[in-house]
Amino acid sequence: MSTPTPRAPMLSTAEALATLLSAASPIDGTESIPTLDALNRVLSADVMSPLDVPPMNTSAMDGYAIRTKDLASDGNRRLPVLQRIPAGHAPEPLKPGTAARIFTGATVPPGADAIVMQEQTEAAGNDVTILHSPSPGEWITAQGADIRSGSIILPAGTRLTPQALGLAASVGCAALQVRRRVKVAVFFTGDELTMPGEPLKPGAIYNSNRFTLRGLLEKLGCEVTDYGIVPDKLDATRATLREAAQAHDLILTCGGVSVGEEDHVKPAVEAEGRLSMWQIAMKPGKPLAFGAVRRAAQQTDAAASAETFFIGLPGNPVSSFATFLLFVRPFVLLLAGMKAVAPRALSLRADFSQKKADRRNEFLRARINPAGGLDLFPNQSSAVLTSTVWGDGLIDNPPNHAISIGETVRFIPFSELLN
Ligand code: AMP
Ligand code: MG
Repeated sequence: MSTPTPRAPMLSTAEALATLLSAASPIDGTESIPTLDALNRVLSADVMSPLDVPPMNTSAMDGYAIRTKDLASDGNRRLPVLQRIPAGHAPEPLKPGTAARIFTGATVPPGADAIVMQEQTEAAGNDVTILHSPSPGEWITAQGADIRSGSIILPAGTRLTPQALGLAASVGCAALQVRRRVKVAVFFTGDELTMPGEPLKPGAIYNSNRFTLRGLLEKLGCEVTDYGIVPDKLDATRATLREAAQAHDLILTCGGVSVGEEDHVKPAVEAEGRLSMWQIAMKPGKPLAFGAVRRAAQQTDAAASAETFFIGLPGNPVSSFATFLLFVRPFVLLLAGMKAVAPRALSLRADFSQKKADRRNEFLRARINPAGGLDLFPNQSSAVLTSTVWGDGLIDNPPNHAISIGETVRFIPFSELLN
């Protein structure tokens, strides 16, 4: 029997994350694309508004535009209506002592300083009687009330949500400057892995992680090349790494990063680049490999990096899911040019107790119950994928900490981790 290799000291989750993220910076390459096609892309430049929004004073009601001082002095509240202003039409200035019929979104005529809603008026022939004493500015949305010309409405690094696209369009942006998509190559190791659709031989299991990880990468907006299951041979693994390194920003693998593992991923990455094997004091998870694969010299120009990042995830389905969410997600988002990548956590009440404290930082699958507290999935094994579908998120339970019923815990919803 060979002497066991001494284990590296365990890293805390925070230490591992800090080390990983310090290596990530935005990838090169930006493009201008139509705003209509820019959903989920990341801005590479600030979007500045070239105009005020709204671009003029507009009416917020259907009613009458008036001058408040015309109503102030005497008892005469009956005004002749000299113009009708629908939205999209330029008004004439409002003559003193008159009213203008106006509709929501229409330009307030120069000289008018309030809108009286039609419910507070009585129309008679060409006149209107105003039954209300408005304050100056009433029901007028001032020019620039939403956006001032020259202001930055969306900073570089923003991921474009539907609302952000709407905001950009509201200032007339037909195209946006975005970073290209992060290119990720992914492959899987393990002679036991079988694709759904194939018969399951004795000892085999389905390659569920291929579906989970590809889905996670696609949700983050990555361009994914899926090499599928790479035969568990050193040459094949090295060849795949070399090929993947040419055209990708990150190579992600799954399986074969445990200590004492028979897989060829570790020696293959070491031969083609460099690799650190981390033991992280987390559960599920623990092993994570981080490194880089060299790019062939002729393919490397001055602007491009000489290496492609490599991350090796553990094979257990819940471990690879959790390590992806906690480590790969923020790493990929930094490559994509985003700035705020930390998920926002909630403080919620544990409606369960967990008497046994674990030495590691646990990420427990839990869900929010109708009372607003958290229920725990009964089986927290890293092989039980059911927990990831049952749960709404992860409880981030610090090392050596038992959970008492009613205690407030840190909960990271999946909704924060899947985008
Ligand atoms: P490993 O990290 O390769 O030691 O694998 C740990 C456990 O995860 C083993 O039970 C593997 O069979 C399982 N596993 C590895 N890769 C996958 C995969 N792609 N899909 C489902 N289970 C996997
Ligand atoms: Mg394996």
